[in-house]
Amino acid sequence: MPRPIHAILHTDALRHNLGRVQQAVPDARVWAVVKANAYGHGIENVFEALRGADGLALLDLTEAERVRQLGWRGPILLIEGVFEPRDLELCSRLGLWHVVHCDEQIDMLAAHKTQVPQRVFLKMNSGMNRLGFAPQRFRSAWARLNALPQVDEISFMTHFSDADGPRGIAHQMAAFQTATQDLPGERSLSNSAATLRHAGDAQVRVDWVRAGIALYGSAPDFPEKTMADWGLLPTMTLSSRLIAVQQLQPGDTVGYGSCFTAEAPMAIGVVACGYADGYPRHAGTGTPVLVQGVRTRLVGRVSMDMLTVDLTPLQQAGVPCGFGSEVTLWGRASEGTVLPIDEVAQAAGTVGYELMCALAPRISVRTEG
Ligand SMILES: *Cc1c(COP(=O)(O)O)cnc(C)c1O
Repeated sequence: MPRPIHAILHTDALRHNLGRVQQAVPDARVWAVVKANAYGHGIENVFEALRGADGLALLDLTEAERVRQLGWRGPILLIEGVFEPRDLELCSRLGLWHVVHCDEQIDMLAAHKTQVPQRVFLKMNSGMNRLGFAPQRFRSAWARLNALPQVDEISFMTHFSDADGPRGIAHQMAAFQTATQDLPGERSLSNSAATLRHAGDAQVRVDWVRAGIALYGSAPDFPEKTMADWGLLPTMTLSSRLIAVQQLQPGDTVGYGSCFTAEAPMAIGVVACGYADGYPRHAGTGTPVLVQGVRTRLVGRVSMDMLTVDLTPLQQAGVPCGFGSEVTLWGRASEGTVLPIDEVAQAAGTVGYELMCALAPRISVRTEG
């Protein structure tokens, strides 16, 4: 028997979430961001469900090859552009659109021998200070690109640092607008947070939005808003079972470092899930978890292959449990209760993005819906 842990990917939920994004910005086209192996879901697993997107955005060239092999004929955008000159050959061969964010990438294009001019997205650094040309350098970068026979249509792009928070997007939007207003071409500005939170702003809705995390059922601005507030459904469930139950007396401790001490007689369940499965080791006592669909809490320290949970709420609710009981680490229990990945992430001091991306290779994955 394999260990009872597995992940379930809800393809109906992926379709639903894509629909939610499309509803928020009905006039824009949607890049479904499938980088990092579709945020840990597996590109092959999400592909059918995300076929309704207008394009796929990613940054690993091998992932671009995989989606072409799966039969995707629509646009693919390399959101970090090329890394070395020969990547441009692959762009030609696979028809990839690519971001140009630095002079070195323009140099590579200028030296590239091609029959087919390439579609590029010129990226502005409007304040994030990761990738892109500064606003005052943007126009000269555009002029240089525009003069190259290797370049076909030029579009414009920037990325927001604070679309999910109080600082917002206005300062970056202003920088972008000023430097691009009379340049001809399509625009792409918004990630999930900007798409959901700032959809009232006409500039946010322009041409192409780039939606990642919302597709995968996590609120980009949790805890201010939850996935339910945005009408999103969980796309990944991490599910396992109890493999033991221990009865504790007051003063008994649990696990490495004896981090949890029972104050009263209580039952704890031992779950086949640990940090080697991708569960965050920093999740401490109190992290939410579902047993038989009943919400309870983790107690003690997460170990490599196991973690321990408080069974008191199940006894209080009169729900029988024991060896083999279903445990939902995040996602949807089989009886329907949802534990948002964002709540688990918050308890571990991280974000839903990191948990889904960290799903361990040893976890077997099946798709449903
Ligand atoms: C990852 C990424 C996105 C998607 O961001 P979400 O917050 O997951 O929606 C959009 N644009 C760029 C440039 C990215 O790197």
